[in-house]
Amino acid sequence: MSDSNSYQPGRHFLQIPGPSNVPDSVLRAMAQPVIDHRGPEYPALTLGILDKLGRVFNSSGPLFIYPSSGTGGWESALLNVLTPGETVLAFETGHFATLWKAVAEKLGLRIEWVTGDWRRGIDANAVEDRLRADREHTIKAVLAVHTETSTGVTSRIPAIRDAMDASGHPALLLVDAVSSLACSDFFHDAWRVDVTVSASQKGLMLPPGLSFNAVSQKALERAKTATARHSYWCWESMLANNERGYFPYTPATNLLYGLDQALNLLHREGMDRVIARHSRLAAATRVAVTAWGLENVCLEPEEYCNSTTAVMVPEGSDADALRELILKRCNMSLGTGLGKLKGKIFRIGHIGDCNDLMLIGALGGVEMGLSLAGVPHRTGGVQAALQYLAEN
Ligand SMILES: *Cc1c(COP(=O)(O)O)cnc(C)c1O
Repeated sequence: MSDSNSYQPGRHFLQIPGPSNVPDSVLRAMAQPVIDHRGPEYPALTLGILDKLGRVFNSSGPLFIYPSSGTGGWESALLNVLTPGETVLAFETGHFATLWKAVAEKLGLRIEWVTGDWRRGIDANAVEDRLRADREHTIKAVLAVHTETSTGVTSRIPAIRDAMDASGHPALLLVDAVSSLACSDFFHDAWRVDVTVSASQKGLMLPPGLSFNAVSQKALERAKTATARHSYWCWESMLANNERGYFPYTPATNLLYGLDQALNLLHREGMDRVIARHSRLAAATRVAVTAWGLENVCLEPEEYCNSTTAVMVPEGSDADALRELILKRCNMSLGTGLGKLKGKIFRIGHIGDCNDLMLIGALGGVEMGLSLAGVPHRTGGVQAALQYLAEN
């Protein structure tokens, strides 16, 4: 982006952890003419997308697509399966977990809130302890953010599932996979997640504007008795329409064209390879961060994040001043520190449509910026990342 008085040549480097870069073929797919969403061509589009998208969530159950940001997906999940006054168990892993909690509060839910230090994922033992202590089964759902994008920490959902099973508690498992889907392994069915929430603008390589709910049979059953008042998000009418390839209201047709193409790209690459690519780029980024002598926000290696690396700047440095300088000098956007991490960290997105050279360019911009901004660091991060990529 440039203002009217200046032009920054070359491609802008969008290295924030979402919205992510949109492949050219996806942009072109979205430029097709709008068609009649009640017409005969529509079911092929809808049903093709639902099939291909199910193979990204690894879910065989219903999948709902909303014209909304991810926040709408959070709201939909809560409204469909819960009734105001009911209790949910939630964990303070960072900014997004805190925002989802705030949505739940506004919808009249009670929150059992487990505080955290924003550097670790959800502690499965705490899940088990809280659920065991809840003998009356007042807790109706566990809310878990898979990848906490504000800190670059990925919680271990299988361990949370195991903890829930060990406690014998019937609560639903609601997972935010907004920035982990198509970046890290995600198995909606095998992990017995009841509602997986996601959105278009992260690993799915689309512009913002779509959210998703992948739903288990247990959650569908619960939806029949939950009595929160809502209409737009209602799974029942969505399901009835989707089965025939239609939507209860005007779908975001051009975003669906883009989604269809993005899913084609993901499946052409192969989901295993998509995940492995993210994992490798993330590892190379961490190698650079270590070489710079800077600290990763994420403390547990088992919780390292495939889509985002959050980097702490030394005391006395301002991460946002660094980001501003990098934007001006290198035409690159990096993620800002959110909530209580504002000014203390910057985030490197390696999410979605990204490859070795894009990452090396991004790391080059960071290393140049660290030097120009006078942030204490060692040089050699880019070199170390190059070597890692060459050897792995
Ligand atoms: C991006 C994101 C969201 C969704 O935010 P919106 O701005 O509403 O699209 C939710 N959770 C996580 C973990 C995210 O990274």
